[in-house]
Amino acid sequence: MDCLFCKIVAGEIPASIVKKNVLYTAFNDITPQAPTHILIIPNHHFSNMAEAAMANPELVGEIFKAAGEIASEIGLESYRMNVNTGAGAGQSVFHAHLHLLGGRTFAWPPG
Ligand code: AMP
Ligand code: ZN
Repeated sequence: MDCLFCKIVAGEIPASIVKKNVLYTAFNDITPQAPTHILIIPNHHFSNMAEAAMANPELVGEIFKAAGEIASEIGLESYRMNVNTGAGAGQSVFHAHLHLLGGRTFAWPPG
């Protein structure tokens, strides 16, 4: 399958890996929107996080747990976890991913 994030999981495209195990891969976003901007993705391909959750809710739980662990490990007290689902919501890569953003303040409501 011609999927950018599947290629990162397979090691075919380089990425700055933060954490990796049999279930998920975490790596730094190539265009960071905050001082910390990490993507946590399932190693298995799903088009978005909702599809992943419907197929394997435990896996999505592990991905959120990983985000919390990474935030704790790097000392983030406040952070934002973000999931864009569908092009209209800003999704540009159609392999499920969780954004972990931190190191600055964030506005609410989001744009
Ligand atoms: P989204 O817009 O929610 O689909 O998020 C996709 C994210 O993937 C964006 O924040 C991009 O900057 C990021 N991205 C795209 N290509 C790469 C890459 N090769 N390595 C790391 N992050 C990437
Ligand atoms: Zn994929």
